[in-house]
Amino acid sequence: MPHGWYQGPSVMTKPSILTVDDVPQVSAAVARDLRSRYGPSSESCGRRRALKHWKSNYLGFPKGLSSSDLTQRAMAQVSRFGAEVVLANDVVGFESRGQVRAVLFGSRDIEARALIIATGVSYRRLEAEGLETLSGRGVYYGANASEAGQCEGDDVNVVGAANSAGQAALNLARFAKRVVLVVRSGTLEATMSSYLIQRITSSPTIEVRYRSEVRAVRGDGHLKFLEITDRDTGLTEEVASSWLFIFIGASPRTSWLGDDVVRDSRGFVVTGHDLLNAGHPQRWPLTRAPFALETSVPGVFAAGDVQLDSMKRVASAVGEGAMSVYLVHRYLGTI
Ligand SMILES: Cc1cc2nc3c(=O)[nH]c(=O)nc-3n(C[C@H](O)[C@H](O)[C@H](O)COP(=O)(O)OP(=O)(O)OC[C@H]3O[C@@H](n4cnc5c(N)ncnc54)[C@H](O)[C@@H]3O)c2cc1C
Repeated sequence: MPHGWYQGPSVMTKPSILTVDDVPQVSAAVARDLRSRYGPSSESCGRRRALKHWKSNYLGFPKGLSSSDLTQRAMAQVSRFGAEVVLANDVVGFESRGQVRAVLFGSRDIEARALIIATGVSYRRLEAEGLETLSGRGVYYGANASEAGQCEGDDVNVVGAANSAGQAALNLARFAKRVVLVVRSGTLEATMSSYLIQRITSSPTIEVRYRSEVRAVRGDGHLKFLEITDRDTGLTEEVASSWLFIFIGASPRTSWLGDDVVRDSRGFVVTGHDLLNAGHPQRWPLTRAPFALETSVPGVFAAGDVQLDSMKRVASAVGEGAMSVYLVHRYLGTI
């Protein structure tokens, strides 16, 4: 079972399942299930990136853990369960060849009977001094209900001007003493739905700070201060706050998929019932309904952040990884 840096696929036999991701969240769950079901000829392809982020909210790690630590643990687990790992290779294309599903790496490819797409999203990064160090320690990209609860009674800052930022501000305002929405432009009208603007502007605990930017963050182990600059006057104010949530956009890494795999207008992969319900029924080729995480190409599944309306959390990505293997097993029973 070889694995290592800068290594191409061995492809001595056709694997039953192929996952496209790095080692992160989904593939640990996938690999656990591979060997018992299909033997050791299952492969996971991915490229390696700098993993500096801190996961502060993942069940079983009460003190949090770094993404690199999580990746190393996943690698050890993947290896123990016998999956072949192809590192430092970008998958650049996908093809259906009859019932065979193939991914392409430049001059080489791997064929399999099923494929799980888990290539995640790229978050647009906020350029502010000190941000990388405090990421996961008071500074978060995105927020869900559990993080909102941690801010009870505190001042919270949210960066962003689209619906995701507006929804987060309203959600956080249920717990926080005060929420400040930091917006670069002079209006929300062009980027946010009017019902959200109406709720935000009528909330006594939400303040919108227009024409403003977070330029720096500081803290010792956890966020303590932000520097917010007025874009018109150039004046910078230091604000005491332990929470900063950033919603400035995320795009799914799906440009390598061909036209056969249906995505929404932002590039997120459409799966399961959404394929039939969201205006794509003509793209589903079989008489049976698609399985829950199945894409418009039978036998190709999507798990984790890359999927439309996913939760953008480790636990859900891992859960969907495990679920997609179960569904692959059911799919293999149909061919
Ligand atoms: C700063 C930050 C902090 C976060 N903190 C938390 C937290 O505390 N708790 C929590 O639950 N969630 C947190 N999240 C969210 C969590 O990281 C994601 O929800 C989770 O990692 C999604 O897993 P995934 O497997 O879908 O995608 P990813 O973990 O993004 O993995 C996808 C992998 O696929 C690789 N890849 C992409 N394209 C290709 C290609 N063409 N060929 C080969 N490989 C490719 C990528 O390099 C990447 O490594 C955080 C996210 C960020 C950005």
